[in-house]
Amino acid sequence: MEDYYETLGISRNATPEEIKTAYRRLALRYHPDKNPGNQAAEERFKLLSEAYQVLSDIEKRQLYDLYGHAGLAGMDVSGFGGFEDIFSSFGEVFEDFFGFGRRRGRPRPQPGADLRHRVVLTLEQVMQGIDTSLEVERHAPCRSCFGTGLEPGTRSQTCTRCGGRGQVGQSRGMLKIFTTCPECRGAGSLIATPCKECHGAGAVRETKQVQVRIPPGVDKGVRLRLRGEGEAGAAGGSPGDLYVEIQIAPHPLFTREGKNLQYRAQLSFVEAALGSEVEIPTLNSSARLTVPSGTQPGATFRIPGEGLPGLRGNSRGDLMVEVELKTPTKLSSRQEELLKEFLKLTEQETRKAK
Ligand SMILES: [Zn+2]
Ligand SMILES: [Zn+2]
Repeated sequence: MEDYYETLGISRNATPEEIKTAYRRLALRYHPDKNPGNQAAEERFKLLSEAYQVLSDIEKRQLYDLYGHAGLAGMDVSGFGGFEDIFSSFGEVFEDFFGFGRRRGRPRPQPGADLRHRVVLTLEQVMQGIDTSLEVERHAPCRSCFGTGLEPGTRSQTCTRCGGRGQVGQSRGMLKIFTTCPECRGAGSLIATPCKECHGAGAVRETKQVQVRIPPGVDKGVRLRLRGEGEAGAAGGSPGDLYVEIQIAPHPLFTREGKNLQYRAQLSFVEAALGSEVEIPTLNSSARLTVPSGTQPGATFRIPGEGLPGLRGNSRGDLMVEVELKTPTKLSSRQEELLKEFLKLTEQETRKAK
């Protein structure tokens, strides 16, 4: 479902005045009278009305901020029923026509919102898969006030500004203009003594441990869904889901290419020239690699099966070893002697070849 703030193109801390202005501007643009036969415009208009109905109402807005769409369970916010035109010139302008449908009938169950949680894995953990426990913060109805926001033993007060109607009227010439009561933001009542536990919000954040098994082979960006571990549903609705997003920590030795791992092995030019058997680290131990004589820098060798497992339990990837050549920096006099000898021989060979 679309976010109401986005629908109206306003920020989360928009004032009632900003909400009203945004709604009026957009509703004018998408009004069915201005877009006859345009289904898309009509849908948008309904959505705007719905968003406005919720955000212009202090109680609904608070619930929506806390719980998202799930917080409005059972409230009639489904856009307009036989709507009367807020922009018509009958002499009376009902700005807040859509604010009428509060708490009619039994609450309908509403699913809880989804939650997201990020888990960072090392490559070793990707290899094995892990069992871990996540600390998930979610909202729960305040146990002290049962979600009402009222300090136990106190009652809500009828708003004196609007007399409980949620709207205030203003005469402007021939017109009487009704707007949302700025005092109670349309709720008609005010919390006189806010609950000490939740400061009147009706909900508190709680931390829960959620066990999760992350299978071997996951890559960054993979999302695991834990059904029913999101925010609680309202009025008996099913809870939302918890999405676990996988991130991979950089490894000091290996880089990852899908199932394959990449390792840069440093060989001396002598080892590369003569050929050599070298020990290469792997994720769980090490492997021996035979480098043939005359190996050039940048040459890549494959050690099969030493990569990562596939996500669906298929065969493991390979370890790709790229050769880098290092030049010796501190030579003993004997080494230097031999290398000079080597150089002399190389020059002679080159001359002979010409
Ligand atoms: Zn409370
Ligand atoms: Zn009021």
